[in-house]
Amino acid sequence: MIEIPNLSIPDFEEWGITAFTTTRQAGTFSVAGNEPVGEVMSRWSALQNALAENAPRIATVRQVHGNRVIVQTGGWSGWLRGGQADGLIAIEKGTALATTVADCVPVFLAHASGVVGLLHSGWRGTVARITEGAIAILSRNGLAPADIAIHLGPAICGRCYEVSADVRAQLTGETANRPGNVDLRSLIAEHARSAGVRKISVSQYCTRCDNDQLFSHRAADSGRQIGVIYARV
Ligand SMILES: [Zn+2]
Repeated sequence: MIEIPNLSIPDFEEWGITAFTTTRQAGTFSVAGNEPVGEVMSRWSALQNALAENAPRIATVRQVHGNRVIVQTGGWSGWLRGGQADGLIAIEKGTALATTVADCVPVFLAHASGVVGLLHSGWRGTVARITEGAIAILSRNGLAPADIAIHLGPAICGRCYEVSADVRAQLTGETANRPGNVDLRSLIAEHARSAGVRKISVSQYCTRCDNDQLFSHRAADSGRQIGVIYARV
């Protein structure tokens, strides 16, 4: 049982896959914020304990706003902190994936076989098409895009997210002369759809609009929530 305050994502339950995003109430999971590292690490330990029965492994990466996706296989237990990457795929059941976010989009991927993926896609990751990269990896592993389900978790919404002309141009591929608003989740959904994914859902939560419940970088929070996904053993 998970006792960590979270917003659960019911989309993949029928496949034996649990997914959620922690809330502000659960505290920050960022070791680079203002809180003592010891307190943050104790939260990660509590998470491991809460998941242990259904997921003896938990994998994270050092997030760098790129598009590298690491594929994890089983055969180990505990917490594996990988190198620089922004995406993880778990081939075997029982491997929990976690990503820290506060405005950037946590992209949850799932397949009926129990294969799961989790990506961190801010504007840079979205420009670098990390979601399409992950879909391509799954495809190479024999999972057709049409059978993959994607959920775009709590992130900054289009009304709250103004970016520079340059960033807007990079994201939309259109010329932009002035700053403007972009909806990262709409763009990622478009990319996923054009890659052949049909089952896409989007969280109703905005980290900024719902800042009472979620951490937001743009709202000057140094805290970070985490997205978590795993197929139960
Ligand atoms: Zn908003």
